[in-house]
Amino acid sequence: MNRPDAPSPPPAPAAVDWAAVRADFPLLTREVNGKPLVYLDSANTGQKPRAVIEAVDDFYRRHNANVSRAVHTLGSEATERYEATRAALARHLNVRADELVLTSGTTFAINLVAYSWALPRLKPGDAILLTRMEHHANIVPWQLVAERTGATIKVAEITPQGTLDLDALFAAMTPEVRLLGVTHVSNVLGTINPVREICREARRRGIVTVVDGSQALPHMPVDIAAIGCDFYALTGHKMCGPTGTGALWARREHLAAMPPFLGGGEMIKEVRFEGTVFNDPPHRFEAGTPNIAGHIGLGVAVEYLAALGMERVAAREAELLAHLTEELGRIEGLRIFGTAPEKAAVVSFLVEGAHAHDLATLLDLEGVAVRSGHHCAHPLMQFYGVPATCRASLAFYNTHAEIEAFVAAMQKVRKLLL
Ligand code: PLP
Repeated sequence: MNRPDAPSPPPAPAAVDWAAVRADFPLLTREVNGKPLVYLDSANTGQKPRAVIEAVDDFYRRHNANVSRAVHTLGSEATERYEATRAALARHLNVRADELVLTSGTTFAINLVAYSWALPRLKPGDAILLTRMEHHANIVPWQLVAERTGATIKVAEITPQGTLDLDALFAAMTPEVRLLGVTHVSNVLGTINPVREICREARRRGIVTVVDGSQALPHMPVDIAAIGCDFYALTGHKMCGPTGTGALWARREHLAAMPPFLGGGEMIKEVRFEGTVFNDPPHRFEAGTPNIAGHIGLGVAVEYLAALGMERVAAREAELLAHLTEELGRIEGLRIFGTAPEKAAVVSFLVEGAHAHDLATLLDLEGVAVRSGHHCAHPLMQFYGVPATCRASLAFYNTHAEIEAFVAAMQKVRKLLL
């Protein structure tokens, strides 16, 4: 019975018209090899909504000028729009804007931590802890630092299911470990790592944490403040933004204590031949002219995702993932790599007797784009003892009909190959 004084329930979130959302992405209407495109490579790079494409176009048509230098109107417009992206990212990620360094992507962001935080601090006897499922972007910079400082690399292993072995990870957090690099979501397995718990354990032991958020931000809500890490790296092009965009979030005390990574314009207050006074963070880490148009596009991408609602994106993708996993399960001889209970919409697989590249090439003839290869994760391929896998990765703009078209193409291709 309704009581007149009962508080009214919160309004149900408006349902999303996913067909209308898909129509925002012009590229998805094209054909490939005479077939409607089925784009299943969003983990590699995401497609861009019209609003992002138009923002980049509009910048060059109407506002093109350099940021932070010119006092003229175009210069202020460019700077305002560029800085609006920092503010949009800060709102989206629940952090302060002045703790966000805009970068060309995750690769640059992690290298910035490696060269600016780790290189001056690490010494022989120190260790850097990484997980088996890291992308090369969260391995190679640390190897370069280790070589130059005498630190060593330790590896936390995974289970065959593709989840982190948390007991082993916590046991590996020994006193010589100074820094932990961990991916939020695996680009190969789709595994969503419990980064909050991991960072809490690391922090208790005084270990600085670097979380690679490249594959998390396209799929789910991310609250960096709640994760409690020290550094969080992200890339724009996987979250509907242009290529060559991204950011590093860092705790203010780290940014304040870090020397610049690159020197040049924008990152200084005063330059004399006797010495230079550097700018305050985050500008201290943004030497040279940035990808202004790209970052303005990223700001629009972030607003686009925020308006969709990342909870709704996650729920939509969970449905698509369940459908895809079920359909692939019907294909004889198909093995899925990565079956974690907490998983983003990424499915790596192989079909017994067929090479990953052959599969991907024949699927392309059917209009289906999947990635084949090592996915910049050689150590993970070594763990599973395979040189490569095929990977179908979904975004909210994919459809159930596309999943069916993909699986039909797989059945056809399998017959051709076996
Ligand atoms: N980390 C992960 C988990 C990735 O999937 C990628 C891109 O594939 C990267 C890092 C590198 O991102 P970017 O090349 O945009 O810097």
